[in-house]
Amino acid sequence: MLLSLIIALLFGGYEAPPEPTAGELLPVPVLMYHKVDVHGGGRYNVAPSVFRRQLEELRRADYYLINISDLVEGRLDHVPTGKHPVVLTFDDSDDSHLRFLHNGRLDPNCAAGILEKFCEKHPDFGHGAAFYCLAGSERGSFFNDYIHWREKLVWLLDHGYEIGNHTVTHPDLSKLTPEEIVWEIGSCQRLLEEAIGEREGYLRGLCYPYGAIPLTAEQYAACREGELDGFHYRMDYAVAAWGGLCPSPELPEFDGLRYRIPRIEIHETRGDGGFDVRWLTRFTNTYESSGACWESPVAIMLDWWRRLWAGEGRRGFGGSWLTDSLAEQAEGFQRSLKQLPPPPARYR
Ligand SMILES: [Zn+2]
Repeated sequence: MLLSLIIALLFGGYEAPPEPTAGELLPVPVLMYHKVDVHGGGRYNVAPSVFRRQLEELRRADYYLINISDLVEGRLDHVPTGKHPVVLTFDDSDDSHLRFLHNGRLDPNCAAGILEKFCEKHPDFGHGAAFYCLAGSERGSFFNDYIHWREKLVWLLDHGYEIGNHTVTHPDLSKLTPEEIVWEIGSCQRLLEEAIGEREGYLRGLCYPYGAIPLTAEQYAACREGELDGFHYRMDYAVAAWGGLCPSPELPEFDGLRYRIPRIEIHETRGDGGFDVRWLTRFTNTYESSGACWESPVAIMLDWWRRLWAGEGRRGFGGSWLTDSLAEQAEGFQRSLKQLPPPPARYR
C-alpha cells in the first residue's frame, strides 16, 4: 500500500492492478444441462417449468450469469458486488435448446427462449450460456436440424451465447487413437467455423463426451490441437462433466483445470440422484460437500399444476422449421459431412 503510494507520488498516474475482491475468489458453479424438454424427467432432462424455477432460485440466491469465456479468461469484474457468478452449459445440441415456431418466433419453451425472456425481465441476473454442439446428434445434425443448423449457431453467437465442440459421434475420447480424436474434434470444429465465419474473440471450447478425459499424453495433445486435411484447430479450454465447483480463475489452481473445467450435473430434483439448484445454492454458500434437499409431495403437486397451466402438457411441433422432407434434410447434412476428409479406418 505504502509502496504503491510512493510509486504514485514519484511517477504520477501509476495505478496498481486491482486486487481481486472477496467475491471474485469464490468458486464458480458451472452447471451442466442436457435437454430442456416437456417430455419425461430423469437424468438428462429438465422440464421448461423446472428450468424457469431454477433460474428464479439462482437469481434469488444472488447468482449472476456469466459466459464460459468470462470464466476462462478471468473476466469477473463485470459481476456486481454481492453477486456470485454462475455459468450455464447445455450439452449435445438438442432441439430443445433452440427452436423456432412456425411464425419464425423463438419458441418460449426452449432453453434459449426461456433464458431470453428471463434475462430481459431481470437485467440484474446477467446473461449468457454455452452450448456444446454435437455434429451427429439424434437425427444426425446439430440441434437435430438439417436445414437451419448454421443459422442457429449464428443466432446463438449474435445473441450473446457461446458455442463449443462436442465432437461428431460422441465417442469416449479416452478410448480413441490420437488420429481418431483429431477426426472427431477437427471435423466438428470445421463445421462450426464454416457456419459461423470469422468471429472476433471467439474461444474454441471442447466438451468431452461422457466427461471422459483423455488418459494418455498423446490423446490429451490431440484434444488440444490438431490438423485435419489442412484444417488446423487449437482448443482454448475444455469442460469435464463432473468435479463439483470450479475454483475462481483468480486462484492458481484454476490454471491446472483449464482443459478439464469441472461442472455440476443438474437434474430436475435432487431425488433423481443429481443436483437441484436449491441444494446447489446451499452448497456454494457454505462450500461444503454435504447437504440435503427434498421435494415435498405438495411441491410436486404444485409443479404438476404449474406445468399443466403453462400448457406444457401439449407440445408444439418440435422441428417446426423443418419444412423439407426428412430425406432431403438428411441429404443436405450428409453433403456437408462429405466435404470433410474421410474418417479414420475404424469408423468406416
Ligand atoms: Zn454429451
